Amino acid sequence: SSTSGTDRDGMKKAIVCGAGGFIGSHLVKALKREGFWVRGVDLKYPEFGPTVADDFVIADLRDPVNCRYVIDQPFDEVYQLAADMGGAGFVFTGENDADIMHNSALINLNMLEACHRRNLKRIFYSSSACMYPEHNQMDPDNPMTAEESAYPANPDSEYGWEKLFSERLYLAFGRNYGMDVRIGRYHNIFGPEGTWRGGREKAPAALCRKVAETPDGGEIELWGDGTQTRSFLYVDECVAGTIRLTRSDWTGPVNIGSEEMVSINSLAHMIMGIAGKQLGIRHVPGPLGVRGRNSDNRLIREKLGWEPSESLHAGLSKTYPWILQEVIDAGLAPPEAAAPARTGT
Ligand code: NAD
Repeated sequence: SSTSGTDRDGMKKAIVCGAGGFIGSHLVKALKREGFWVRGVDLKYPEFGPTVADDFVIADLRDPVNCRYVIDQPFDEVYQLAADMGGAGFVFTGENDADIMHNSALINLNMLEACHRRNLKRIFYSSSACMYPEHNQMDPDNPMTAEESAYPANPDSEYGWEKLFSERLYLAFGRNYGMDVRIGRYHNIFGPEGTWRGGREKAPAALCRKVAETPDGGEIELWGDGTQTRSFLYVDECVAGTIRLTRSDWTGPVNIGSEEMVSINSLAHMIMGIAGKQLGIRHVPGPLGVRGRNSDNRLIREKLGWEPSESLHAGLSKTYPWILQEVIDAGLAPPEAAAPARTGT
């Protein structure tokens, strides 16, 4: 068809916006493993290793001219993950609200328009569980994130409101211009090669870092009383769900998350167990977000016949060693860990 990007040699083409970021760089790797020709776009190259994209464009997608420039040919699949985002320390303090809303909304407005003008139909958008209403997430034991519970809307952050607006923007382009938009609502994605310091990191990476930096028997700081609950999804499963949804016949929005809900205290203890350390926890004030959140996977099971299945422990067991190595390389590890790594199991 006129909108297929497939080369004469049969190679499919995809573009990943946000390919210099955490999930985007993993997505590029997955598409390359499948044999796609991949263009990545971002303000920056991936931080923790070279990109495997065939073509990588450094561009600011807030500028519509740049969006037209990167969408210069047919692509079979467009993945739009670029956003101005971060963990609670970035999103919930209120200090970055104007940038978050302005930057991310512009990216989505411009990318949709560029795809529409090029007659590209299939575009995936990464929304977030942060768009669910705050009042359904006050009880840490029974948070509600069924997809239809999004309305009446009441997200607890401007980040969540922007996601909600952009979801609706994608749906409108789908309705009015016949685009095959696909919307996933990610729930707390973690894994190797994610931000682990600097203020934009999220709870699993921040706790892995704190555990790695603290000598055995010491103490780590944890924001809040630690009884707030969340679920965390390992990045490979996020990427698998993203690709499945994009190729499915179904628009969404749908949760892409784990149903294994834990308190932040148990998350910290799980990481200590993996690290083989016993540490105390000092509870300190900090930005928290909602009291409880978990993915509700009924809809994704029904519509895609698939859901993430890996345990949190398994994902953390692959993430902690990566962060420990980063901490060691940065010279932040206690002397005991900076010694030559023990080998064997
Ligand atoms: P990330 O910050 O690592 O990646 C986002 C990338 O977008 C960054 O590399 C950034 O440089 C790029 N970007 C920002 N502004 C840009 C611009 N103007 N032009 C071009 N590129 C720009 O974040 P991530 O964790 O990989 O998240 C990817 C997407 O998934 C985001 O849309 C995010 O909101 C969404 N999401 C992530 C999570 C999570 O837990 N990581 C949860 C819910 C939703």
